[in-house]
Amino acid sequence: MKTIVNGLILKGLELEAKKENILIDDDGTILEISKEVKEGEIIDADNKIVCPRFLNAHTHIGDSIIKDEGEGLSLDEVVKPPHGIKHVALESADDDVLIEAMRESMWDMYNMGVSHFIDYREGGLDGVKLLKEAAKDIPITPIILARDSSFYGEDANYHMVKMALKKLLKESDGIGLSGFGEISTTVAEIICERCEREDKISSIHVAENELNQIASLEKTGKSEPQRAFEAGFNQIVHMTNPKNDDVELLARSDSSLTVCPRSNGALAVGVVPLYEILNKGVRPLIGTDNIMINSPNMFRELEFTLKIMKGVSRNHIDAREILKMATTNADSSISNLPIDKSYIGEGQKAELMIVNKKSNNPYLSLINRTEANDIVKII
Ligand SMILES: [Zn+2]
Repeated sequence: MKTIVNGLILKGLELEAKKENILIDDDGTILEISKEVKEGEIIDADNKIVCPRFLNAHTHIGDSIIKDEGEGLSLDEVVKPPHGIKHVALESADDDVLIEAMRESMWDMYNMGVSHFIDYREGGLDGVKLLKEAAKDIPITPIILARDSSFYGEDANYHMVKMALKKLLKESDGIGLSGFGEISTTVAEIICERCEREDKISSIHVAENELNQIASLEKTGKSEPQRAFEAGFNQIVHMTNPKNDDVELLARSDSSLTVCPRSNGALAVGVVPLYEILNKGVRPLIGTDNIMINSPNMFRELEFTLKIMKGVSRNHIDAREILKMATTNADSSISNLPIDKSYIGEGQKAELMIVNKKSNNPYLSLINRTEANDIVKII
């Protein structure tokens, strides 16, 4: 038993700031939250904020081996398979070099308050096993989305696709795809249907690059997000360049949106219209995307996002809504995704961080001012 006392806790799915104590049992479950409770080991959080740990909702940690390479190249030259510099580097890297680089990135995330991350894993089944091996003794939960080379091309063999899916989904948490440029509509539908049946994540990059959106409209008469919703993907990533009524379609769909604003800036593809998206009632997640272009530091992502979105929209955006994108929006009642991520509430698993309070606005204190050495305890 232990009790966190005197802290300002960000409670429940709405992250309500309350001065209450948190009693945690020996299995790590939150038993009681109240002003009075005080049992077992006492952890004093006076002048601290107690915040749920983060979900980094989109990473590619495999490219930890080529940090800051490819500066000045286009999106396709950097990340498009098979000739982008990322894929060339991953193909030729030794497993132990890859494992070591991924471990370093996972420790970076852990030390900056991340409890879970959703990773687009390249390299098929072997790639999935490599990440599991790398994560073995690190106190962080990887949510691994896999892919297979049999998915690609207009003439993909559907039998091979189904066989590969069966194998991948046994070992992974779902499927993560580069985009509609590489797969046919039928393959997309096969993937989504199977993921839905097995309660797994089906995820795809959409509308990251405006040129791909225009190409999609010319070729199919539909935007990339529209095709993703029709195929049944339950997670879409980016939506930096929505066209026509894409935002409206998103708001009406069951798909969860993950935005990656620093990555979009680094790759010069635009600024996601987050103000408009939030105003439609969408509750997105947020991720740091490729380690090669961004550190996986969620505090940096949150601060960049809050400020650039206010600047571009010339409107006020509530910092609490931005913090929810890294914390409570992950709850499956909001995201519709099969993610086992807790919040600060009775009966929930205690996955939280105790952080120095640097101003009287806890949301802005976390987003604007928190550095690694402000995290005094991770539970
Ligand atoms: Zn990505």
